Amino acid sequence: MSSQGKHVVFDVVGTCVSYDAIFDALDTRLGERLRAECIKPKLLGYTWFEAAEREYTYLSISNRYMRFYDVFASLFYRMLWMAGIEEPRKFATDDDLAYILEKFMDLKARPGVAECFQTLRDAGFTCWAFTAGDVKRVRGYFTKNGIDMPEENFLSCDSLKIGKPAPESYQPLLRQLDGDEVWFAAAHMWDVSAAKSVGFKGAYCTVWEKEPCTDLFGDMDVMEDTFPEMAKQIIAASGNGKDKISSKFKLYCLPNNLYNAVRNMTSSSQCNRGPVSDPVASFWNATPRKLDEYRSSQQLPSNADVVIVGSGLAGISTAYHILQNNPEAPFIVLLESRKVCSGATGRNGGHVKPDTYFNVPKYTKLYGPKAAAELAAFESSHVFAMKDLVERESLDCDFHLTRAVDVYLDPEHARQTEEAYQELVKAGVVNLHDVAFTTKRDAERISGVKGAQCCFSFTAAHLWPSKMVHGLLEKLLQKGLQLHTNTPVASVSTTPDSQGLWTVNTPRGSIKTPKVVYATNGYTAGILPEYTNVIVPVRGIASHIESPKGKSAPHLVNTYGIRFDSRNNDYLIPRADGSIVVGGARQRFWHNRDRWFGNIRDDELVDEATSYFDGYMQRHFRGWEDSGAEVKQVWTGIMGYSSDFMPHIGGIPEKPGQFIIAGFSGHGMPEILLCSKAVAAMVRDGVPFENSGLPSMFKTTAQRIASESSPLEESLRPLWETKIKAKLS
Ligand SMILES: Cc1cc2nc3c(=O)[nH]c(=O)nc-3n(C[C@H](O)[C@H](O)[C@H](O)COP(=O)(O)OP(=O)(O)OC[C@H]3O[C@@H](n4cnc5c(N)ncnc54)[C@H](O)[C@@H]3O)c2cc1C
Repeated sequence: MSSQGKHVVFDVVGTCVSYDAIFDALDTRLGERLRAECIKPKLLGYTWFEAAEREYTYLSISNRYMRFYDVFASLFYRMLWMAGIEEPRKFATDDDLAYILEKFMDLKARPGVAECFQTLRDAGFTCWAFTAGDVKRVRGYFTKNGIDMPEENFLSCDSLKIGKPAPESYQPLLRQLDGDEVWFAAAHMWDVSAAKSVGFKGAYCTVWEKEPCTDLFGDMDVMEDTFPEMAKQIIAASGNGKDKISSKFKLYCLPNNLYNAVRNMTSSSQCNRGPVSDPVASFWNATPRKLDEYRSSQQLPSNADVVIVGSGLAGISTAYHILQNNPEAPFIVLLESRKVCSGATGRNGGHVKPDTYFNVPKYTKLYGPKAAAELAAFESSHVFAMKDLVERESLDCDFHLTRAVDVYLDPEHARQTEEAYQELVKAGVVNLHDVAFTTKRDAERISGVKGAQCCFSFTAAHLWPSKMVHGLLEKLLQKGLQLHTNTPVASVSTTPDSQGLWTVNTPRGSIKTPKVVYATNGYTAGILPEYTNVIVPVRGIASHIESPKGKSAPHLVNTYGIRFDSRNNDYLIPRADGSIVVGGARQRFWHNRDRWFGNIRDDELVDEATSYFDGYMQRHFRGWEDSGAEVKQVWTGIMGYSSDFMPHIGGIPEKPGQFIIAGFSGHGMPEILLCSKAVAAMVRDGVPFENSGLPSMFKTTAQRIASESSPLEESLRPLWETKIKAKLS
């Protein structure tokens, strides 16, 4: 954060620089021809910009954000058509367009802009630029016009992938300057009034629009005809206590529900994908821990060797592996939006259940038998990797090695699964030594689950995940890791600076670093928009069940998957204290897309699913009928489902030094630890993905990111369509 405490954020195109160069270019190139059609070049230029603004905004709000320049260029022939030209592509050529666009690189500063900046700086203001244009082109305007504008004070909608005037587009900067006096200055009333509505003070210059139309936009704090006058009036109006803007007030002191509403304004834009405040308490995180809201220092460091975003198992175990046995330990800063481990890791089922057989046929179809076998082996090895970690680091996290029992309740589903399993046995590609199959005859007695049609068992584990994370974190802090909780990353610069450093922006300041690791799970698209629809936030629900003392409740020694059919299944772990953690309840809400898919609201329960867990043990387990078992707590959590079912691991394409470890599709416990070990080797030693030992399908690639297809959504569509059809009939 700037130490000066007073800031003016300027819009650039149309405000600091005029459109005249484009209008002149239109005139030079097409003027005569246009006038022959009774079209004024300047009017055409104006409508072209206006139309481009509209399409840019429409694309942005429909989640198809495009660079303004690309939108503008694409509309050229359409504008000619709209102006009344019958054959636009005969009337003008691509060369004409290229000529005009070249002039777009050379927009001239409006009179008095340089003086305005200087006056403000002399009065202690920091000047910023926030543009809908692309950074390279728009920065060039300042350079070419001899106006100083440091790169770090420059923000583009391109990095947020949200076009102005969406309120969320202004908020990251407001948060970054939290508590200071922050002005927004523009020559577009729509821009100033939108910025003002989220907490900026508004300064408007009439130089472009002449008519402010205050009946539409309201009055601004400063309204002047020239830039030097505007600067003087900002200074005159500044420092007045009652006017001082606090973004904290505007953004953080809103009642909680309103704050979330502003932040989330659901699904209409990509930025609303960060963790929401005040998630419901989970059983695992109910008791406060000393590191919950820990910050290693009051100020955020300005530089780091590595910045890790996210304090779930993925972030913490990546840090662990980077620092383990490392005599040249890098300086790592770990940033967490909320409390430590307040995401999925602190809200899950605690089940480390490798997928040893169930999805093997599905993955064989998608990725081939060898890859499917590799994945199954990788997951199985995880159980022991977790055990080794717990023992090596003496982590107090209720770790228990166990067997998972997968129980099938639907006869047809049981039959199909048995058939597929027998095929796997015959094929001999996947190692099934640890998998035991029990037919219907013995399934209910072996599993203890009523109505079991068959069951499978294999080695698994259960634990208290957030205890594991906190235990590791304590050790990492001793090794020099810096932790900063309640520090959401708002954005990361779109390009590295001249020294190859990325800028990680938070409301508490920015950090320059050569390496960024995104361990952001379902929230990844919030700061890596290219992963929108690639890693989808998905809401799940779990519960904690207990029997009153003195009641008879058989102690369960296995963990469970209870499969009602091919889609609906619950997961369950028995805790050593006799209580149960069980999650799932898909039957209650999965048909209703908005209730869970693309949903980040872990600050509320899924009401229609909450009562699902009442009487659960009595319903399903032999001997529990008189247990008196009752639900003590229900909570929600946000997972990151990958559109092709595989996590995204490794170097992010075209972003050297940036890495991702995310998208575990609600199944991270048997995948994350070894993935984090591999990512750490990439970050620390530059090990290529191919030598990391990870299943090849995990590699994040440009192709996977750009893919339009989503096997995940395809598999769910019939479920959602059934609901729509039912509604229509
Ligand atoms: C209800 C539920 C039950 C589950 N049960 C199981 C189970 O039994 N077994 C299993 O294997 N898996 C289960 N899962 C999935 C499992 O919990 C996840 O796969 C795993 O925890 C993911 O870990 P992570 O570190 O990638 O993500 P998270 O634990 O979600 O951590 C990501 C962190 O990043 C932070 N963050 C995100 N964006 C930003 C930002 N911009 N700035 C700063 N910080 C940010 C978040 O606040 C969060 O703390 C379950 C999940 C849920 C929700």
